[in-house]
Order: sequence, then C-alpha cells, then structure tokens
Amino acid sequence: MEVMYQSTRNSGKTVTASQAILKGLADDGGLFVPTSIPALDTSLEDIAKMNYQETAYQVMKQFLTDFTEEELKNCINRAYDSKFDTKEIAPLVEKDGVYYLELFHGATIAFKDMALSILPHLLTTSARKNKITNQIVILTATSGDTGKAALAGFADVEGTSIIVFYPKNGVSAIQERQMVTQKGNNTSVIGITGNFDDAQSGVKAMFNNKELAKVMDNNGYQFSSANSINIGRLVPQVVYYVYSYTRLLANGAVKAGEPVNFVVPTGNFGNILAAFYAKNMGVPVGKLICASNENKVLYDFFETGVYDKNREFILTTSPSMDILISSNLERLIYKIAGEDAEATADMMAALANTGKYTITDEMKARMKDFIGGWASEEKTAEEIKRVYEKTGYVLDTHTAVASAVYHDYKMKTQDDTKTIIASTASPYKFATSVMTAIDKKYEGMDDFALIDELSKTAGTKIPNAVEEIRSAPVLHDTVCDTKDMQKMVEKILGI
Ligand SMILES: *Cc1c(COP(=O)(O)O)cnc(C)c1O
Repeated sequence: MEVMYQSTRNSGKTVTASQAILKGLADDGGLFVPTSIPALDTSLEDIAKMNYQETAYQVMKQFLTDFTEEELKNCINRAYDSKFDTKEIAPLVEKDGVYYLELFHGATIAFKDMALSILPHLLTTSARKNKITNQIVILTATSGDTGKAALAGFADVEGTSIIVFYPKNGVSAIQERQMVTQKGNNTSVIGITGNFDDAQSGVKAMFNNKELAKVMDNNGYQFSSANSINIGRLVPQVVYYVYSYTRLLANGAVKAGEPVNFVVPTGNFGNILAAFYAKNMGVPVGKLICASNENKVLYDFFETGVYDKNREFILTTSPSMDILISSNLERLIYKIAGEDAEATADMMAALANTGKYTITDEMKARMKDFIGGWASEEKTAEEIKRVYEKTGYVLDTHTAVASAVYHDYKMKTQDDTKTIIASTASPYKFATSVMTAIDKKYEGMDDFALIDELSKTAGTKIPNAVEEIRSAPVLHDTVCDTKDMQKMVEKILGI
C-alpha cells in the first residue's frame, strides 16, 4: 500500500515520501506526516533474526513506499557501514537491571548520526526520482552537535554540498575542532561573529530569499535542509526501536508480545516520536517516558495539558536538550487531535503568538502512552556517579537525565516492565561534565585533558572521532560578520 504524506496544518494535499524528504517542511509551515502509520509486514520473530541493515529495510520500506527495493537498500548500505565502530550499529547493553541502547557509535559519537548518515542518500535518491538535476546545497546553522553530524553525513556525497555556520565563540572547544577539521571537497564551515540565533536567522533569511533561489537555480543549485523535522530523519530513527525490541526477543529476555518501556532524553521530540511510531507499527510498548532536563516544558505539558514556553531558558550540562520549542511535538498534537489539521494549525498559531496553547481533555486522554519526567542538574550528576560506582559504566549527561528519570519513575510506580533507555551520546563528547560528576577534583580541567582520564576511569578505548581531531589539521578558518553570511554563500558557490 502506498503511504503518502500530508501537512499537519492542511490535510487537503498529499505528496510522496521522496517529495516530502526534498521539501523538508510543508509550504504552510506544517510538518509532513504519513496519512496513516504503516504496520510492519514481517513478524518481530523474523526480524529478530536480521541484522541492523536488514531491519532498517523492513521498517523503512513501509514508510518510503515510492523508493524501489534497490534504491532503499543502496541508501541503507551506504549509511550503516564502517563509519560505525561496531557491526551491531546500535548495541544494547544491560547494566543495573535496565538496557541502554547505545546510539552513539557513528561518526560524531551522538545519536544524530543514526539519521544523518542516511539522510544525504535519501535526499539524493529523492532528487533523482523527481528529476531534479540541480546540486543540493545543505545550509545549516548549528549550536554544535547537528552541524558536525550533518557535515560528516554529507561529506563527499555526490550531487550535494554543505555549508555550516556556527557562532565563533558559542560552541565548546571539542565541538569547534570537530567542525573545523572536517574533510570533504563539498564541505564549508564558517564561524560568525554573532550568536546561534544570529546564525539561525541568517540561514532562514537565505531560505526565504526568492531572488537568491532564482540565481541559484540559474546556476544549477537549490537549497535543502537537514533539520530534524525532515521525515527523512524521523523514519530512520524508528528502526532502532524495532531493532532493540527484537534483540531482547532474540536473546529470550522478553517473550513474544511482552511489552517494554522506552525512556528517551528529549529535546526537539524527534527521537521519542520515532518510538511512538514504532509502537504504532506493532512493537509491544508499555510506557514512553519522556525525560527532560531543567528546561522541563514537556514535563509540564504531559502533567497539565498546557504547553507554555514563556519561561527562563536554562543552560545545562545536557545542551542538546536545552530547548523550549520542541518542533516535532506538532506531529503528536496532530495525531491526538484526531488528525484535525485546522485544530493543529490553531494551536501552533497560538504558540507563535502567545508562546502557549492548551489541549482538550479528550486529547490529553489520547496521550496516555506518554509519561513526562525531569531531572535537575544535581540529580543528573548524581546519577552519573551512582551508575559508575555501582557498575563501572559511564553515562553521558543526556543519558543520565533519562536514567535518573527512569529510576524515579520506577520507585514511584513499582512498574517492573523491562525498560530500554536511549543512550544518545558517548560520555567522551561531554568529558568535563561527566568526569566532574564522578569526582569534583576534575573541576576546571578542559575537555581534552579529561578525555584520557575518562578512558582510564571507564576502561574504554577513546573513540576514533575524538582521537582524530586531536591531531587533525584545521581545514576551515573562515570567520565572517553576521551580515555577510549570504555573501559567503555566493562566494563558495561562485554565483
Ligand atoms: C539531539 C539530542 C537529543 C534530543 O533529541 P530530540 O530528538 O531532539 O528530542 C538528546 N541527546 C543528544 C545527545 C542529542 O544530540
């Protein structure tokens, strides 16, 4: 059955999967959603015998129905290869009575790699299918993590180029080194003298500049976005929920039909939404536990049914979750509103105008699969120390938020359903916060110095992604004024 995609704000018009991937966002500002979430057509018992790539095909073919088998398998095999430092791609590790699903074995040691290693291939395949001959130019503003993962994904992918803007003084030392040492003939990395918001505004202005689009088109270029609202990022994330459940099935930890809970450290709501899609595809899921840090907009939303971003923005040690507008939540809102695009559009307009909206009791009742939780900075650090002292396993700060939220939930509810925690980053990426949580004596030391300490403490090998950047030459050293961002793009493209 062909699955089509429609906007959360207008269900009148549908597009194919490849068109939705190319467009990213619908013209009306809504997010593309499948007209219905497809069920798996292979049994979980059969998937339990498959490897990651084969599982990815079983899941993704249900969503991307206008891709041929050859096209999709080609994308999958180019994405999930030796860029990952383990054949399992997403290993499941049992510690302290819970399973950590390690999503950080890709090129940039964070979970964004799971989707950004395949998105470039989905995008170029989509372009070919839709007879687009222009070169796709990916334009990204980053506060650190997404930029590097997108660079690594798009580097040397034929038919694409990527330009990343970051705030010159607004990212960590490791994050900056990761970006400025990026290889690839089609990559450009530019520091700007402004902050992240300036970078984001500059990029948005270029996306909306019709004149620039025309000049680009005349020269054989068009912009596209690697943003997390792209359906081409959401669909690959469903895969590892199916994969992790079937690993438990394969080793006998769960019986057929036995539900598991998933706990997900959440920012933009993309990762946990993928778990919800997996449940709708037929994976037995009990609760979806949405873990927030001190920016607990989502916790409050699940408690009260009111989404209110009017609050202080708190900088935490889990920066990838420091978000007050969780874009992907719109897809859940649409679903619990009974796929009512008009109601969804009204709530999103209220969010844009007043910073808040309230859902109905009926909608609230429809999201009972979800439980919200949050962990303070203190609790998060305590959890890193607790798990390390008990098991020797070292969690990153984001995973620690989820782990703390889970133990809190378990204590309160006595729910002993088997549970999988999404582990979204390697501790090496946040070495300073992790090491000072384990022992205060590390306070004040820098990330690079603490990486060796972490390796000794955890007894794990320093990942290549970190080792590489210590000695890699700087290949990008351009810095520009915020107002010159477009000029830089024109210069890079020679237009
Ligand atoms: C992006 C990110 C998250 C948040 O994921 P969302 O899909 O935005 O909810 C959590 N942890 C890490 C390490 C991330 O990079």
